[in-house]
Amino acid sequence: MIAHSLDTTCAGLTPEGNGLGGRSPRILVVEDERIVALDLKAILRHLGYCLAGLTSSGTEAVEMCDSLRPDLVLMDIFLTGEMDGVEAACVIQRECNIPVIYLTAHTDKVTLQRAKRTAPYGYVLKPVDEDWLRTAVEVALFKHRTEQELRRSEQRYRQLFSGMLNAFLLLSHVPAPAGPGDFQVLEANPAFERMTALAHDAVVGRLLTEVFPGLEPFWLETLCETVRTGRSVRFENFLSARNMYFLAQAYSPAPGQVAVALEDVTERKHGEERLRYRTFHDALTGLPNRALCLDRIARAIERARRRANYVYALLFLDIDRFKLINASLGHLAGDELLRRAADRLRREVRQLDTVARVGGDEFVVLLEEIASPGDALRIVKAIRERLRAPFTVGGRQCYVTASLGVVLGPADYERPEELLQNATIAMGNARAAGSGRVRVFDWSMRERAKRVMDLETDLRLGLDRGEFVLHYQPIFCLRSLATRGVEALVRWRRRDGELVPPGEFIPAAEQSGLIIPLGAHVLAESCRALGRWRRGVLGKAPFFMSVNLSARQFSQPDLVKQIVTALRNEGMAPTDLKLEITESVLMEHPESAMPKLRGLRELGVRIGIDDFGTGYSSLSYLQRFPIDTLKVDRAFVSGMEEHGNRAIVRSVIGLAHSLGYDVVAEGIETAAQLTDLAGLGCDLGQGFHYARPQPEADLLGLLGRMPPGCSC
Ligand code: C2E
Ligand code: CA
Ligand code: CA
Repeated sequence: MIAHSLDTTCAGLTPEGNGLGGRSPRILVVEDERIVALDLKAILRHLGYCLAGLTSSGTEAVEMCDSLRPDLVLMDIFLTGEMDGVEAACVIQRECNIPVIYLTAHTDKVTLQRAKRTAPYGYVLKPVDEDWLRTAVEVALFKHRTEQELRRSEQRYRQLFSGMLNAFLLLSHVPAPAGPGDFQVLEANPAFERMTALAHDAVVGRLLTEVFPGLEPFWLETLCETVRTGRSVRFENFLSARNMYFLAQAYSPAPGQVAVALEDVTERKHGEERLRYRTFHDALTGLPNRALCLDRIARAIERARRRANYVYALLFLDIDRFKLINASLGHLAGDELLRRAADRLRREVRQLDTVARVGGDEFVVLLEEIASPGDALRIVKAIRERLRAPFTVGGRQCYVTASLGVVLGPADYERPEELLQNATIAMGNARAAGSGRVRVFDWSMRERAKRVMDLETDLRLGLDRGEFVLHYQPIFCLRSLATRGVEALVRWRRRDGELVPPGEFIPAAEQSGLIIPLGAHVLAESCRALGRWRRGVLGKAPFFMSVNLSARQFSQPDLVKQIVTALRNEGMAPTDLKLEITESVLMEHPESAMPKLRGLRELGVRIGIDDFGTGYSSLSYLQRFPIDTLKVDRAFVSGMEEHGNRAIVRSVIGLAHSLGYDVVAEGIETAAQLTDLAGLGCDLGQGFHYARPQPEADLLGLLGRMPPGCSC
């Protein structure tokens, strides 16, 4: 057995491009026939190759490969010893990754079969032909180098594939006679396993429909399309099997194959969903908000346009006196009430209907697919009844009613806002008629609403232009007929000269809030007028100025302060001012009214109850408030000829006097009424019979003719 480790300095040819950096290949020769070995040695030297070593044993050849790292092994197939050439070649190629060329004299089939299985890099027949050997060596080195490069490149790609953050699948199309077929998973990277929590074995080799049961056909169709066209696609989809949203990018790297990169966008999607939910829902009740409600209405309009006899109804519901509930029970209880009301509404309608909260205490119900307008009204009434049952909030029972406006579709609507507005107008009409009413919209309501709106605009302009003037109606002593004071009554002198009576604009001013600046103007103007008269015709004679205060004016928190300021600015004595408020103003907010009345009383300002007898208050109730005067409503005076009315007037006068109040009878139109009232002991009177409301100049004339002041 020979074994040489040779470090021969090689001369001769150094083949270019052999991948060894230009040096000669170092070759290990494994040959147990000495002659052949020597012959080979000579040939190698002649070819310019280096002999890295020489051995006759397979075992030694393996060891030498390990220590000498030759570039190539020339291996005799038949070796004596415990390891023959085929076995040794097998180990060398596998463990040392060194290419082996077999040397053989025989070509017996069995041996060649064995040798072939080791995938050698070539065969060289003995006796060795020099050219043949050189070709075999060059080819083997080239092949090995190429394989190495390929392996390295594959390794690089594999690393990239495994290290990718995005999940990646390589799929092979499994066509079907019909439909998009299925896809077999050829590869799945670790990111895919991590993302889906699926083991490699549960994925690779399986069909995509097995990996993801219940996969939407959309996936298979899209991937099939990618294979067919070679075009890459991007799509986003929900994968119910994993409860995940994916952003997928697919392309076809080879015929019949498709590679899919997947990004888990579940978090982002949920974020978007949460945002969308918040954008379209009310946080307190979880109901759709105004925006979503308008969208649903738009769809109903659209449906009605496409389908004949499609009936829908829109309800606008406003809880009556919700502010009062909020104020008396607190905001938390108010919120709870709204939530409870929302629940009741939701339960009263079907799944396909929409219940939305569109404002503080405003709800909208959209009823769809209803059989007839009659059906809608039945549901509306049921909703109203449902809300009538008591609510328990904050441990207390409370009863509420709601005003309901209904629009019955289909009508020719373009915009959902218009429909909603009409429902709101109908609700406003219901509210104006009292609590807990239902009104169905008709176009005349809109006309009226428009007129009110126009009126509001005009009022605002009129106020800016100073178009509001005061007329004064004398209030006189029924016994002496001397003038004792006046009531200031506002008129609107429009630019065309028309004088508009307050009945036509005070309600609109009250509703729009314009009554506040208007009332301030009236108060200042009347105080100023009285100042002028005192400096003139009146002197120090007893005389008062009555000014009307509406509910909204009276409810201003700083009312007393405002009045103090007006009196001070105009230098008017507080006792000359009498404020007229109606009983309902006191009845609605008795708690807040009391301190205001006391404050005014302390100032010296006097208080009169206007239109007495038209409300529901009783004198015993009014008794609690600091009041100076009762004004018996015109209705009782004009009906005094009837016995019943006369009796009422008499008892009111008697009771008022017993409580220490003055009594003024308003609307005296005849001498008979005057005499009658005087006979009943009524103190003061006011009416067309004595004098109409009139401009300042006329009033001054009257005061000149009939000087004020009397001894009664
Ligand atoms: P009111 O306070 O009850 O005022 C009395 C109304 O009765 C006045 O109507 C007056 O012109 C009318 N009147 C007086 N004597 C007679 C009569 O013998 N026969 C008849 N048929 N009517 C008579 P006017 O001026 O149209 O005022 C209507 C209402 O407008 C007032 O009712 C008052 O509630 C309100 N108003 C008037 N001016 C003001 C104001 O400056 N501020 C506020 N808040 N309300 C005002
Ligand atoms: Ca009045
Ligand atoms: Ca009155």
